[in-house]
Amino acid sequence: MSPHQHEPQPRPPQSQFENFTASSLYCEKCRRATPVRERLLLVLPEKEIFDYLCTECGSSVGQREVTVGEKMMAEAMQPRRKVRIPLRSLR
Ligand SMILES: [Zn+2]
Repeated sequence: MSPHQHEPQPRPPQSQFENFTASSLYCEKCRRATPVRERLLLVLPEKEIFDYLCTECGSSVGQREVTVGEKMMAEAMQPRRKVRIPLRSLR
């Protein structure tokens, strides 16, 4: 680590995030829990890996794996997405 890490970082305004699944994680650089931003890091056939970036310093503070099953569950839970379940009327 260099001692000259005092560049003023432009802090993004704390507006609405597009995704805010995770709220805050501990950042080693900031030495405290900071709000994180979720970024899609890797897409695999059976899962997706998300990277969590500290919104204060921009360093990666964690990762999360989402399996296809979990993703489908999450999408099914989305109120915006209409899931049409065929109903059979018993006559
Ligand atoms: Zn940080």
